[in-house]
Amino acid sequence: MIVLKGRIIDAISDTYFENGVVVIADNKITRVCREEAFSVPPEAEVYKLENGTIMPGMMDVHVHLKVGIPEKVQNPAVYTAGISRTIPGMDQYLGYRILKSYLAALNFVPSGITTVRDMGDMGGYFGLSLRNLREFCGINALPRIKTANVLLTAAGSNQDPLPSWIKLTDVEDWVIRGGADEVIQAARKNMNARADWIKILATGGPMNPEFQQLFTDEEIYAVVNDCMNRGIPVAAHAMYAKGTLTCVKAGVSSIEHGVELTDEITDIMAQKNIYLAPTFTIVKAFINGEGKQPAVYVDRCKERFETMQKSFELAMKKGVKIVAGTDWKAGENAQELQHLVECGMTPMQAIRAGTIEAARLLKMDRQLGSLEEGKLADVLLVSGNPLEDITILTKPDNIKVVIIDGKVEKKGVMNNEKVCL
Ligand SMILES: [Zn+2]
Repeated sequence: MIVLKGRIIDAISDTYFENGVVVIADNKITRVCREEAFSVPPEAEVYKLENGTIMPGMMDVHVHLKVGIPEKVQNPAVYTAGISRTIPGMDQYLGYRILKSYLAALNFVPSGITTVRDMGDMGGYFGLSLRNLREFCGINALPRIKTANVLLTAAGSNQDPLPSWIKLTDVEDWVIRGGADEVIQAARKNMNARADWIKILATGGPMNPEFQQLFTDEEIYAVVNDCMNRGIPVAAHAMYAKGTLTCVKAGVSSIEHGVELTDEITDIMAQKNIYLAPTFTIVKAFINGEGKQPAVYVDRCKERFETMQKSFELAMKKGVKIVAGTDWKAGENAQELQHLVECGMTPMQAIRAGTIEAARLLKMDRQLGSLEEGKLADVLLVSGNPLEDITILTKPDNIKVVIIDGKVEKKGVMNNEKVCL
């Protein structure tokens, strides 16, 4: 039995309480109550921190588990404005990049991220293989993974990774499709590999306003319908209003980025329970120069950030469900919660976006996402009170204890801080 003592944010209640205990037996949360209501048996493993907070394991619903090695290659077929881009696989062996991806994925758990949704790669089955590795080999050092596997995009767009004369070992030729039947076949190929989600690149990226919608209406409706019939949710990369509207009308489960949201789009999202993952972290990272992007790209991100923020405010006003996804590196993923707060959420709303709301999007909320008796024990003990300062969660040093499935995966005993064992 494991007993955690401290301030409790259960991610379900509107408020928190001090002097609480969370009791874990096997892989389940068996009690969440005040300290005086529970007498700790002598054999229990007890964790307590001065000014510590107990909360559910956090979730990042937009990551990419494939690590690309930066290699700027000009792609004349698809790039305008002189932007070079990272082409995966140009400079290293596939095996090397798989190992790098595994090493990167080990950063989630120490950062308090116990579940991620992998939003896909162009081939190589990176996220899917990591998911299987965790599930088949019981590697709890990896977070729980839901994966979109190979993402679907349209030929001739900015998201078409390479001119057709270049063939890469880990870019599937079925990524890029045309025609409803072919898009469905690509989705089914993912389903055959047991992907949890299907990801479609419905519009261009920040530099490509000319790509308002990359698939035809017919293609989008066809793939969403086919997925719905099989109970597989669809996530849509959607940065421009036209493609976003088509996707929400077709009934995707989540809009990724959602830079240009309108009244009509947000009304449909609220009505159909379509989630928004604004992914502020990646845009902020580019703006701050972390992505080492060319100046023209950084300027464009700055300009688009205002539009993003307005869309986010509109979504909040309309009651659209919002979830935390970084679209950025592994580790320190709670940065998204910080940005959600900076853009207008309360710290409690942001924590929910990264726990219970994320669990609802992933259809894992019956087992995960909150501290409730009977749920699986993915639990954190963090130093400080994230409701007073959300940035606490962004620093892995503050994430002292991480429990996944009832097993302690991180015991960060820091100097001068009391962690009673
Ligand atoms: Zn992404």
